[in-house]
Amino acid sequence: MTKVRRPLASKVVALQTTCDACGTIYAASQVKCPNCGEPHSAKVPMSLSGAREVTDLVELSRAYAGADLVCGSCGVRNHAGSTTCKQCGSPLDDAEQFHGGITDEPPTKPVHRSNQSRPSSTGEQIQPTFDIRSGASRSGGVSGGSSYQSPTRLPLPIQRYSAYGTSHISDTYIPWQAIGIVATFVLLMTFLLWPHQETVTVTGFTRERSVTVQAYQWVPEEDWEDNVPSGAITISSRRAQRSTEQVEVGQEWVDPPPINCKPAGEEINNLYNGFAKITPYEECDDPPGYYEPVYEDQPVYDTKVSYKIQKWVTVQRGTDRIEGKTSSWHSYGASGQKVDIGAIRYIVVLQMKEDASVRDKVVSEQDWNLFHENMTLVARMNRIGGMYSLTLVE
Ligand SMILES: [Zn+2]
Ligand SMILES: [Zn+2]
Repeated sequence: MTKVRRPLASKVVALQTTCDACGTIYAASQVKCPNCGEPHSAKVPMSLSGAREVTDLVELSRAYAGADLVCGSCGVRNHAGSTTCKQCGSPLDDAEQFHGGITDEPPTKPVHRSNQSRPSSTGEQIQPTFDIRSGASRSGGVSGGSSYQSPTRLPLPIQRYSAYGTSHISDTYIPWQAIGIVATFVLLMTFLLWPHQETVTVTGFTRERSVTVQAYQWVPEEDWEDNVPSGAITISSRRAQRSTEQVEVGQEWVDPPPINCKPAGEEINNLYNGFAKITPYEECDDPPGYYEPVYEDQPVYDTKVSYKIQKWVTVQRGTDRIEGKTSSWHSYGASGQKVDIGAIRYIVVLQMKEDASVRDKVVSEQDWNLFHENMTLVARMNRIGGMYSLTLVE
């Protein structure tokens, strides 16, 4: 498989440098030492080690503005685009571009230090004046020994006794409320469904049964040609879309993305103004491309037929109910029709002695035949109107 090397998102970093005169380490985008004022010398390389990533837009535009210009008179760097030296005022028309190099080594004090007795040489071990994480200046004090104070010790985490307490309680917690609700419900249902006896009088007899009448009729239907049943008479037919099918309409070049990517070094561009652009690279396997068929849904047409066919159709459905013990059933259907009759339900009409209300009760055929009008029976009832059984009075 072929390999491909490609760049990833680049970043801009602010380099550090060391003052040639007093040894102060400072951001190389500053054109002179913040401690002693010595112009930054191109002889001292700018250090990548410990360089800070630049995200501030103003600083980024400064980084991309171009190489600094070195004043031919005083040697101070001026930002790209400057026309006169801000240190000495000399014109910069013929000024050379700054060409300070970059090193991987951390910024170090130069071996020869021209002046150790400058008033603020406490900067000897001053750390860089920036720190992304704290955002605070760390210059001075850090290695000053006596003036350094360790940060206030944080209080210990508070012991969480409550967690233990809760689990202890839940071990022995009894849901009295839930038990109470269930017990009340059980008692109520027992009371409502507990049977008691009531006296009833038979006041009537009824029978009922379900009836379905079917007729053999011509019925209009519509279906695809191959589904039309035999015996059908075609009325009309038409073309219609029955389904869709996938049809290959061409091919498409597929270029799979690179795989198995591994870091493959980085490219460092010196921007010659105290900043550098770092572009990491990765190397990946580049799978070969291939053609893939492209499909499209296309309609499939067929013949749809309107026809008529003879079949059994339900023309009547209902309950036939007759009153009295001796009435005969109604008759149903005409000749050529099918009549389906369901099982007979035997019903007695009862009047409750207590409140004179009337109700139907389905009973067995045997009981229905046994009971007669004005007969007194004992009904086992519950308190929501249900009747469990009917028995003769002894
Ligand atoms: Zn200095
Ligand atoms: Zn100058």
